[in-house]
Amino acid sequence: MISKLLRVIIMGPPGSGKGTISQRIVKDFGMKHLSSGDLLRKQIMGRTAAGIEAKKYIDQGQLVPDLTMVNLISNELAKIDGYSWLLDGFPRTVVQAKELLERGPIDSVINLNVPFEVIIDRIKGRWTHEASGRIYHTEFNPPNKEGIDDVTGEPLIQRDDDRPETVRKRLEGYQLSTQPVLQFFDDKKLLKVFTGKYSNELWPLVHDYLSTKITPVQYTSYK
Ligand code: ATP
Ligand code: MG
Repeated sequence: MISKLLRVIIMGPPGSGKGTISQRIVKDFGMKHLSSGDLLRKQIMGRTAAGIEAKKYIDQGQLVPDLTMVNLISNELAKIDGYSWLLDGFPRTVVQAKELLERGPIDSVINLNVPFEVIIDRIKGRWTHEASGRIYHTEFNPPNKEGIDDVTGEPLIQRDDDRPETVRKRLEGYQLSTQPVLQFFDDKKLLKVFTGKYSNELWPLVHDYLSTKITPVQYTSYK
């Protein structure tokens, strides 16, 4: 059934193209986009009480406590009540997921299932010019001369967090922490999994799926 309002959650590991797919959903379906990471960064910049508290955890690479997170998101959702929305980065724990459902219904949870090997391969090809932060990719955006920065002629390096071992660890951490959340939504029959390697491969599937639930506001060319 096509409804007017759609409340969707998007999930996917770092490097899965969640940002790209989110942008396209927002554009084609005219939904409001709420990203927990963006929201937290805004709170930190504005030096709000929540921002000051959150920063302590984020700086240590930890999750922000559920209560703080739920209050923040609840406030923002209240502002976009009556609109269709896409929630990104929240919920990250089962406690958050339960609180969200207490607040109101969710129509669908999209999970971008990009094989870890694909993500590792993609990040592995990334080379950085340390001084400027310029980024190249051996496959998608190679420098004119292998291993050399186009502008300065200096050597390129591979950042520690782009090394395959580091990326693999981060992905395994993601999987461990989100598995219970995915299971929770699957039990509620809300989970919809999309499997593929590239955003351009996943996007038509996501688009067609959402089109069965809400009318696009914008023509899509699948690009
Ligand atoms: P991604 O690569 O998917 O952007 P990220 O780790 O950069 O992942 P963000 O969503 O940008 O994640 O959030 C930045 C930080 O904010 C997280 O590392 C975490 O500490 C905190 N955070 C974001 N969302 C939540 C949440 N729902 N619950 C708890 N902490 C959160
Ligand atoms: Mg981020």
